[in-house]
Amino acid sequence: MPVKDTEAIVLRTQPLGESDRIVTFLTRAVGKLRGVAKGARRSVRRFGSNLEPMSRVRLTYFETEGRDLARVESADLLESFYRLQEDPERAAVLACFAEVADAFAREQQEDDASYRLLHAVLRAVRDGVDLDVAARYFEIWTLRLHGVLPDLMACGRCGGALGAADGFYDRRETVVVCGSCAPGAAGGAVPVPAAARRTALEMLRRGPETFAGTPRPEGLPALAQLAQVVFLDVTEKTFRSYRVLQTLRGGAPAERIGCR
Ligand SMILES: [Zn+2]
Repeated sequence: MPVKDTEAIVLRTQPLGESDRIVTFLTRAVGKLRGVAKGARRSVRRFGSNLEPMSRVRLTYFETEGRDLARVESADLLESFYRLQEDPERAAVLACFAEVADAFAREQQEDDASYRLLHAVLRAVRDGVDLDVAARYFEIWTLRLHGVLPDLMACGRCGGALGAADGFYDRRETVVVCGSCAPGAAGGAVPVPAAARRTALEMLRRGPETFAGTPRPEGLPALAQLAQVVFLDVTEKTFRSYRVLQTLRGGAPAERIGCR
């Protein structure tokens, strides 16, 4: 089997037996890749801390016939985001990025744009972009790249321009509708105010790093809610990392009980 190589970002690792680890990567060349790193638990010599979540590495690996796990040959560190995780809140936000990227990425499918998105957002966090801005940026772009971001300019039912009016996300029809069409919206409409839509459009036009040191854009909580419902409807799973983050920030007791 020929050895292959690609740039990759470590999304997560889990122990495998006494001495090995299973590592999930978001790669530049082949989308999501899961591989066994032999000896990564027992010895730090071979991989060092290069397999810590969010490390950006030059990965070499073998595909092993008949198995869905590759074999990690080497992972040379290109860029470490390890120190970002010393802050618990920042670490929790990065865990959200990892879980979302893991849920949306496909195996054996080149996804250079998703790789570049995660890389750009990690750099933005490192360079001091507000955590909530970085998180909403990552979410909006994840929705866009996977074709599930609704049109934010025009009503998905009557086609009228939304302009400065509030919009509402209709979960069943997966469109944003105007106020006149909203009463008929099925499945619980999620408000998407004009300010939130403006911020989202701004995020689609700019790099995440350009939000460093700028005033906090409006509408971030509404964008968070929109992303959560679309994530849930698309993936049919609740992201554990968001609950952890919420608990860390002093979320409601009900949320803590619901946290698995
Ligand atoms: Zn309408």
